[in-house]
Amino acid sequence: MAEPLYRRVVVKLSGEYLAGSQGFGLDPATVDRIADDLIAAREMGTEIAVVVGGGNIVRGVEVSARGVSRPTGDTMGMLATVMNCLALEAAIERKGTPARTLSAFVMPEICELFTRSAAHKYLAEGRIVLLGGGTGNPFFTTDTTAVLRAAEIDAQAVLKATNVDGVYNADPKKDPSAKRFDRLSHSQAIEGGYKVMDATAFALARETSLPIIVFSIAEPGSIGAILEGQGRGTVVAG
Ligand code: UDP
Repeated sequence: MAEPLYRRVVVKLSGEYLAGSQGFGLDPATVDRIADDLIAAREMGTEIAVVVGGGNIVRGVEVSARGVSRPTGDTMGMLATVMNCLALEAAIERKGTPARTLSAFVMPEICELFTRSAAHKYLAEGRIVLLGGGTGNPFFTTDTTAVLRAAEIDAQAVLKATNVDGVYNADPKKDPSAKRFDRLSHSQAIEGGYKVMDATAFALARETSLPIIVFSIAEPGSIGAILEGQGRGTVVAG
């Protein structure tokens, strides 16, 4: 097995992906498969923290369009991410690998609060660490959270798992002439306005010199392939 490229990474998983083909909630088979991929990646020797989205349950913008204030809608979204973390934690632990959910909110009956020291400790112990609750603030996304947490815990890269194999200049599912990039600078990603991640996330990655690798999680084993430098994805760096 090739030596992994990174010692510690943050994997960003969208909540939407965890819904599988049903489009809402949690699809147990998908959660299980992602757990397998995360465990395989951990077994390569890379320390793995995971920031999970909540779009499979609640998105703040959508709730606020129906009469709830945006900060309240966003709080609901952040709580949804904690539920997703608990589902993944359970799936990982069922397979015999230790995991730990840390939340941006104080919720002692449910899980521990995210602190840098707790994250460092559990990662060093070999646990897969699930980071829930987003940044803890409304108006942000879990993409931005992934970059923020990666910078806080000294991760060497953010692995942004999506349903396409990189950054394109248009939606490849709608536009067959869309061009895929192998590599982009953070500034090019921001200026291009590519939809794959929000500009705040790219800007924070530029500020903290963090590479982001955008790749498709559709194929089992794709996280490990990226860690070995074999996977197909777009590297946003420099
Ligand atoms: N959210 C937030 N602050 C954060 C992260 C997330 O308010 O720091 C809320 C926001 O409402 C968002 C929801 O949580 O719509 C779910 O996160 P996101 O949309 O990033 O999930 P994904 O699209 O990755 O499933």
